[in-house]
Order: sequence, then structure tokens, then C-alpha cells
Amino acid sequence: MSRNFKAVSKEDYLSERREKARFKALSDGKLEFKCIWCGDLSLKPKGRGQRDRRFCNTCEQNATEKLGDKLSVVVCAGFYKWRAIKKGIEFDLDQDYLYSIFPRDFKCPVFNVTMRINTRTAPSLDRKDSSKGYIKGNVEYISLKANQMKTDASIKELKMLVSYLESKSNE
Ligand SMILES: [Zn+2]
Repeated sequence: MSRNFKAVSKEDYLSERREKARFKALSDGKLEFKCIWCGDLSLKPKGRGQRDRRFCNTCEQNATEKLGDKLSVVVCAGFYKWRAIKKGIEFDLDQDYLYSIFPRDFKCPVFNVTMRINTRTAPSLDRKDSSKGYIKGNVEYISLKANQMKTDASIKELKMLVSYLESKSNE
């Protein structure tokens, strides 16, 4: 007796089910998301790590080009949480908040240069009031260079450095 089953591999069966589930989710509008930067609606692409996708392709590509890596990699709340724990200071940041304060022109507000990872001008989170922790309202993105200079010297020292350099250039 030959059964008239069409041989379907497990992979084919599963991928067909996934397709169906995806199609249903699509028609229910579940895979649609609004880009938090430009507000455009797009569909979540397939694949791992896309579930919390917040940017459309255009914004994502633009950011990757400018920053040297994806925004979701560059902006990492977890990293600062770890630092806060290590330093024993407050922390209440989350990924969405950090996206919302990230300069849309990708530039350091101090030096007006594009912040790019793995360089001296990489984006870094500055605490405006260093007696407070990594908390909403107290942090801002500036370049690593600006951040380090700020950490290294007081305002008085920086002013002294500037007047020294200016006096040298006048000689
Ligand atoms: Zn967008």
C-alpha cells in the first residue's frame, strides 16, 4: 500500500508555518512600527534582534554611516548601568531615553565634530552634575575627547590653559 503523502521535510513545514504566522501578524498590523526619529511607519524586518527595532532603514543606515556602527550598538544603556553599579551611583536610564537625547546631527555639542566610535570623538555620556548619577535629565552625549578634558581639568585650569596658549600664539 502506498500512501499518497507528499514528502515534506521538517524545515519546509516549519518555514511554511512561520510564513503563515508572519502573514497573519502583518495583516494584523503587528509587525508595523513607527521610527522614533523620523516618525515613518515601516515593517519590522525578519530575524533575530529585530523585535525591538525602533528605527526605519533610512535612519538606521544614516546613523551607521555617521557613527561607524548601528545606533542600537552605540547607544547602550546597559553599559552605563554597569558603570553606575560599579561606582555606586544612581541609575534610571533606558534605551529609549538615550535614543531620545542622542544628537540627531551626530555631533558633539562641545566641539561640533561628528561623534564616531573607536575614535577620540566617540559618543560618550556626560553627567552634567557629577554629584548625581546616570539619571534622566542629568546626562548628555558629548565626544569622548570633550568628556575626558572635562574630567581631567577644572574650569579654572582650562581657562589657565587657554590664556597660556593664547599668550604663546601672540608671541
Ligand atoms: Zn526613520
